Amino acid sequence: MPELPELEVLRRQAKSELVGRTIDAVTVNQPKAINVSRPEYTSRVEGRSIESVERKGKYLTLHLDSDDSLVVHFSMGGALVLRDSAEHDPDHVPFVFAFSDGEFMHAINWQLGSIRIYNTDYLYQPNGPIGQLGPDAWDDIESGEQLREVIGGSRGGIKPRLMKQEIISGIGNAYSDEILFEARLAPKVPTDDLHDEDFDAIYRAIRVVFQAAIEAGGEGFTDLYGNVGTAQEAFAVHGREGEQCPGGCGGQVEAIKISGRTGYWCPRCQESR
Ligand SMILES: [Zn+2]
Repeated sequence: MPELPELEVLRRQAKSELVGRTIDAVTVNQPKAINVSRPEYTSRVEGRSIESVERKGKYLTLHLDSDDSLVVHFSMGGALVLRDSAEHDPDHVPFVFAFSDGEFMHAINWQLGSIRIYNTDYLYQPNGPIGQLGPDAWDDIESGEQLREVIGGSRGGIKPRLMKQEIISGIGNAYSDEILFEARLAPKVPTDDLHDEDFDAIYRAIRVVFQAAIEAGGEGFTDLYGNVGTAQEAFAVHGREGEQCPGGCGGQVEAIKISGRTGYWCPRCQESR
């Protein structure tokens, strides 16, 4: 499912491709994917231009030239692609945006995601969709020390801690596995037991893992142009149960159940405390 790198790929493309475009019409085929009635949604969206785009964590926000913003959240999966035709299967394409320049943006591969509309001021309120997120793992965290201040002070395992969006935003199941392998720390190590150098290692791992994933176009993520990312090909442990560990230890990657999710790690390379 899309995490920070996938949304960052989309943000960069949306910044150059979507800003300045006017939405002539929007087709909503899945009322569950919006947060107001369809008539209200279309009346607040149609005729509006996209003034700017912003990403925080796994959310992409399109600010309109009104008091409103559209908040894209893919949840379990999804993508937005530009096409030159409005033709689509309403059972599988929850949204089609028609731009005034004759191009269209289709929502595809949709799994429980949404494109909700909010008054822009509300977005950043403490209980608003963006305001309730913790600092962005890529844009806002600038040192191991800052990372410790943000995620420290918890007895919970480091993997679920990194995935808590209200604490630190953008990291999900796949990239937490990769980050913890890169930092050589076991997913179940209590966050409280980590030392300063561990937080430095996790901070550096976030930079390394996300940089590579963004450059590769994300994990199997379909971008605005329809290209599919290949970040998963370089994954060290995520989804690689039973494969030889790439850390040179001679061991195998194992799966682990933690906080109801399946994680992947190398018990030989990743230190348990
Ligand atoms: Zn290993």
